[in-house]
Amino acid sequence: MIDFHCHIDLYPDPLAVLNGIDTRGTYVLAVTTTPKAWRGTMKLVGDRKRVRVALGLHPEVVAQRHQEVALLCGLLPEARYVGEIGLDGSPAHRQSLDLQVTVFERILSECSRVGGRVMSIHSRGAVSRVLDSLERHPRAGTAILHWFSGTMRELERAISFGCWFSIGPAMLRSNRGRELASAMPLDRVLTETDAPFTRYGDDPLMPWQAFDCLAGLEGARGIDRIELGKIVEDNLRRVVQAQSGR
Ligand code: MN
Repeated sequence: MIDFHCHIDLYPDPLAVLNGIDTRGTYVLAVTTTPKAWRGTMKLVGDRKRVRVALGLHPEVVAQRHQEVALLCGLLPEARYVGEIGLDGSPAHRQSLDLQVTVFERILSECSRVGGRVMSIHSRGAVSRVLDSLERHPRAGTAILHWFSGTMRELERAISFGCWFSIGPAMLRSNRGRELASAMPLDRVLTETDAPFTRYGDDPLMPWQAFDCLAGLEGARGIDRIELGKIVEDNLRRVVQAQSGR
C-alpha cells in the first residue's frame, strides 16, 4: 500500500495515523505545506523506514509565506523529497500567480543545483504554467503531478515531459478524474490520498486507503486491482532508486 502525497502533520492525531501505517506496512510520502513544518514532521516520523518527509511550500500559502523560500532552499541539501510545491490558478489564488511562479522556479533551480529531487507538485488551474516552469528547469528531478486536473491536451504534454502522476480515491470519484487517470502511462502512476483534506464519508481518508482508487481503473485498463497494485509498488521502487542514485 502506497500513499505518495499525504499531510500526516495536519491530522488531528498524527501519531495514531503513524501507528496505523506501521501496523499495515503502508509506504507514505508525508508532504509539508511550509518549510517550517519540515523538521517537526521529520521528528514526528522518527526512524520509520516506510515513511519519508518532503520539504514543501504550498502555492496556496505563497502569498503570505513567500519569504520562507529562503528557508526551503537552505534545507534542500538535507531533503531527498520536495513537496508540496507548485502553482494554483484557481480564483482564490490567481492573484498571487506571478509570485507563485517566482517561488516555484526558485525551488526548481535550487533542486537542479543540488542534483535533482523527487517532487510532488500541485497544478490546480495552472497545469500549463507548471509545465512551462518545468520546461525551463529540465534538471530539477522527477516531477510527480499530484491530483492532475488539467485537460487531455495538457496531460499529453505532461506525459511527453516525462512527468509522473499520483492519483487517489477522491480524484477517481469523478468521471473526468477516471478519464484522465485511464490515459496516464501505467509505469508512471503512484497512489495518494491528499488526506486529511479528502474524506471517506465523515472521516478523513487514511493513507492505507490510497489503493481504493485502483478499483476505478480496473475497467478502463482491463487489469484487476491486485495487479494494478503490484505495478504501483514496482513504480515506487523505481522512483526511490532514481532518487538514491543521484
Ligand atoms: Mn496536498
